[in-house]
Amino acid sequence: MLNNLKEQIEKYNFSIKKGYGQNFLIDKGMINKIVDGAKLPEKSIVLEIGPGFGSLTNALSSICEKVICIEIDKSLIPILESYNLLNVQVIHSDFLKLDLEELLKGYSELHVVANLPYYISTPIIMKLLTYKPTNNGAHIKSMTMMMQKEVAARLKAEKNSKEYGSLTLAVGYYAAVSHVANVPSGCFHPRPAVESTVIRLEKKENGFQTDERKLFSLIKMAFAKRRKTLVNSLLLSGFEGTKEQISSTLSALGIKENTRAEDLDLEDYVRLNNHLHW
Ligand code: SAM
Repeated sequence: MLNNLKEQIEKYNFSIKKGYGQNFLIDKGMINKIVDGAKLPEKSIVLEIGPGFGSLTNALSSICEKVICIEIDKSLIPILESYNLLNVQVIHSDFLKLDLEELLKGYSELHVVANLPYYISTPIIMKLLTYKPTNNGAHIKSMTMMMQKEVAARLKAEKNSKEYGSLTLAVGYYAAVSHVANVPSGCFHPRPAVESTVIRLEKKENGFQTDERKLFSLIKMAFAKRRKTLVNSLLLSGFEGTKEQISSTLSALGIKENTRAEDLDLEDYVRLNNHLHW
């Protein structure tokens, strides 16, 4: 596959743009592993962010009903279109600026499969997780995504570890996380300087009754000064309330006064959010 890619690069006089996180997959076995790991149901509609030269796209198009690809790099569009894959729609756009509701109108459910551009993997994950269709919009059922190993570790981190934080809690709120594969840097051209991991997120209904916007701003403030106690971190990060209010709520919930952000799990944060009356 490396030779194919090199031929394409030459044929189209393509220059690799590091600024767009361009590390292209050249390992057929790994591409198959990602597609299998996505556990796509029959006749899936798939959204792919950053198709690049289309190595994943081609594999997906042979087993899916439709693949919708979003690519920021204009020079890759004619290359992707030259494959003439009838069930592939190529869109030239910055995924972070895209109106998902508008894009996905007319579908009932879909799955995301992507080798993410690492420089924006967290905002992409958050955009997908927090997307809520209105009216008859499409539901995102699962996301199988390659990302930097360190980001993957934050998604599935355990309480009290250094990777545990607001991203772990946000992902846990919306989805179930599973590991698909570790990807050696030799599977790419050019080789990335970091290690990569493929993670699958399956959207879930969590049943929590809480104000989501407040919950995530509480979590953000709690972890803003993670070495300090939770009470101090909240107060130093602009929480609008008094020390007494936070301390008495913690005590009413049976949480130690000197607890730190990383000592609490998602259920604790939901209880705290609901009892703080802020
Ligand atoms: N899927 C291809 C593969 O596996 O070989 C390419 C993966 S490469 C890591 C990331 C791709 O995302 C590149 O093609 C890059 O141009 C594209 N990209 C970067 N930023 C983007 C953005 N904001 N919106 C859409 N695509 C983006």
